[in-house]
Amino acid sequence: MIQHFDLAVIGQGYAGLCAAREARARGLSVAAFEGVMVGGAVMTVLALDPSPESFTTSGPDLGAIIGMENIDAGVVPLLEPVTALTPAPGSGWTLHCPQGVLTARQVIVATGTRPRLLGVPGVARLVGKGISHCADCDGPDLIGKDCVVVGGGDAAFQEAAILARIARSVTIVMRGAAPRARADLVGQALAFANVVLLSGRQVRAVMGDGRVSAVRLDGDGTDLACDGLFLFIGGEPETGLLPEALPRGENGGLVTGPHGALGLPGLWAIGSVRAGFAGGLAEAGEEALAAVAALCR
Ligand SMILES: Cc1cc2nc3c(=O)[nH]c(=O)nc-3n(C[C@H](O)[C@H](O)[C@H](O)COP(=O)(O)OP(=O)(O)OC[C@H]3O[C@@H](n4cnc5c(N)ncnc54)[C@H](O)[C@@H]3O)c2cc1C
Repeated sequence: MIQHFDLAVIGQGYAGLCAAREARARGLSVAAFEGVMVGGAVMTVLALDPSPESFTTSGPDLGAIIGMENIDAGVVPLLEPVTALTPAPGSGWTLHCPQGVLTARQVIVATGTRPRLLGVPGVARLVGKGISHCADCDGPDLIGKDCVVVGGGDAAFQEAAILARIARSVTIVMRGAAPRARADLVGQALAFANVVLLSGRQVRAVMGDGRVSAVRLDGDGTDLACDGLFLFIGGEPETGLLPEALPRGENGGLVTGPHGALGLPGLWAIGSVRAGFAGGLAEAGEEALAAVAALCR
């Protein structure tokens, strides 16, 4: 027999975790799908700034603790990806995953983003061979070496400060004339003597024979020798499950109405999969509460 839930949440990043927690607290039966790792993007951030929860500033702790609390509260965890979402006979939605199907009256899509890559020669060949999206994960390989960080937002400066403690040099390359990041994060990164900021510049190619060895910059075509390249240039919203008829907005994110409504009955989107998402964990949590409150009305 096919299992039926009041709510299925697709994606257990912070937005999805908060939605599942709130829905259980309101007495709904909840199935929570996660295709990669409960906690989502913050699982690679050892020092959150800011953290949305007072009990920790560690991303891995945040994901693990809320995930465990949700299970204790009765959320049904399904550690597999949803591969298709189709209207259920009558009403609600059918969620298809490798181990079978289930149905839910309401579905919250909280599938987040996958890290964006630079569309320049050399990148596809060298992902995982010196190209990374995580300073805490791959920084330890760069002790005493040179690295380049691309991006001008919070994540770029936050992660550059982590790398500065490990690497010999950190060069931040950003397209804009001025950082978009919070001033305190910019200040923290640039306070390190081994951090250099190149503004108004872009990486045009990545070189390396089996592993990153340099990046070529635009303008004078300078080659910057480096052993690691860290990309923090935003993410591509994971919207592939959703019908193409649903509008996509800036950066390909889902366009939502009030409280994350997607314009099809019982379907909602929250967090970084949405067009116009403000970018922080606190906002993801607020969107989760608003969507659950709305679907309970
Ligand atoms: C380097 C970095 C540092 C950051 N630091 C901070 C910080 O200090 N403070 C802060 O407030 N914000 C920070 N952010 C922003 C924060 O990470 C995002 O706001 C937050 O992750 C958005 O949460 P989300 O749940 O919408 O998406 P995600 O965290 O991306 O979670 C989406 C989840 O959905 C899963 N998923 C996708 N498709 C499927 C599917 N088909 N089936 C099942 N599961 C699926 C994914 O595997 C993933 O686990 C940082 C971001 C980055 C990149």
